[in-house]
Amino acid sequence: MRITVIGTGYVGLVSGVCFSNLGNEVTCVDKDKSKIDMLLRGEVPIFEPGLKDLIEHNVSENRLSFTSDLSKSVKSAEIIIIAVGTPSLPNGEANLQYIEQAVREVAVALNGYKIIMTKSTVPVGTNEHIASIMSELTAHNFDVVSVPEFLREGSAVKDTFHPDRIVIGVNNKRAEQQICDLHKPLTENIIVTDVRSAEMIKYASNAFLATKISFINEVANICEKVGADVTMVAKGMGQDRRIGPSFLSAGIGYGGSCFPKDTDALIQIAGNVEYNFKLLRAVVEVNKDQRFNVTNKLMDVYRDLKDKTITIWGLAFKPNTDDVREAPSIEIVETLVKLGAKLKVYDPIAMEKFRVFSGIVGLEYCNNAMEAAAGSDAICLLTEWDEFSNIDLQELGKVVRTPVLIDGRNVFDENKLVNSKFQYYSIGRPHFN
Ligand code: NAD
Repeated sequence: MRITVIGTGYVGLVSGVCFSNLGNEVTCVDKDKSKIDMLLRGEVPIFEPGLKDLIEHNVSENRLSFTSDLSKSVKSAEIIIIAVGTPSLPNGEANLQYIEQAVREVAVALNGYKIIMTKSTVPVGTNEHIASIMSELTAHNFDVVSVPEFLREGSAVKDTFHPDRIVIGVNNKRAEQQICDLHKPLTENIIVTDVRSAEMIKYASNAFLATKISFINEVANICEKVGADVTMVAKGMGQDRRIGPSFLSAGIGYGGSCFPKDTDALIQIAGNVEYNFKLLRAVVEVNKDQRFNVTNKLMDVYRDLKDKTITIWGLAFKPNTDDVREAPSIEIVETLVKLGAKLKVYDPIAMEKFRVFSGIVGLEYCNNAMEAAAGSDAICLLTEWDEFSNIDLQELGKVVRTPVLIDGRNVFDENKLVNSKFQYYSIGRPHFN
């Protein structure tokens, strides 16, 4: 099939590349010319394991191309995938300006029947709104289909090729057949729904996962006070098939470009129909507090952080991505700077994005984990990159000024720490030394 993908971010670029690898002819479009220029030079604007090789392969097979000429690429496509951002407005509602702009541009470029397939996460009713914008601007026929995206940054290529399920929200048999055919090579587990239900499935899924995270984080906070170990509690809970083991890792809370904005948006979606989503409000509140678990523990160790050198290990909101949007690291670093600490920071991939995105000045960016730890009064681990959990603790003990380790993601084996010289704190587990 001939496909145009609008928006070459984490979702659009990965989807476009994966669809081209399945034999489709794909053009990826972005209005950010610098991204397209990078892609045309063979560079990849985001870090995602496996993506660069797939791009090179499919470009060389002439199935994948990049352009900022939306109009031309729309004309030659059968399916137009919308994968632009839907960030939060100040009130938490999804900002649909990028969707609306893209749809307008698509509508005026239309030269015959096409399917508009929305992958961006959009509030219930948005695809109907898209159809009405289109109808105003074009006389050509079209169908609007909702195919919400569930990939995870850091394993986006794998998730795209091996999805748990594909949800297709569609009100028309012809479009249903074509979109099912497009996805059949990926999975047999295709769930066809009406459009509104598909839109809701995406928000409900993210809200549920966020709920699991905030739930286990609250359990962790109680474990600390009653002397239980949250990792064992989670293991014992997760073996119950009704609960399941995933998303039960206690830590400093969720971040990223999806869970925070999608939980906020669902609260707003509910509010718009006069429903108070009390449970989800609590999930969000718990998550906002949880990141301060790290700073509170630091304050317990040192009453005053003025002139203390604190190491931050990990800035990305999770490992294997360079994405720092809504990463807990931003607020933690801001807080520590305000408290007068000197910060040495290190992340294997996300430092440049953090520097630009956070705008926080006065940090010392380091080349590796050991360099960041040298001369430090405490190490705070915020992202569970393997590089940190694999570190040689003996060597680490030699380079720090004071051996204090605050593990915000419970990555260290407690048995290794119990006999070390480190004062070791983690989340919801006993502390040592
Ligand atoms: P992103 O910010 O990484 O990329 C969006 C891209 O769209 C940008 O490159 C931007 O320049 C481009 N764009 C905006 N308006 C445009 C226009 N009119 N024409 C052409 N390009 C345009 O966003 P993302 O993380 O890929 O997310 C996209 C959507 O997918 C969001 O709705 C998000 O909620 C959803 N989603 C994201 C993830 C994820 O893990 N990132 C997972 C599932 C769903």
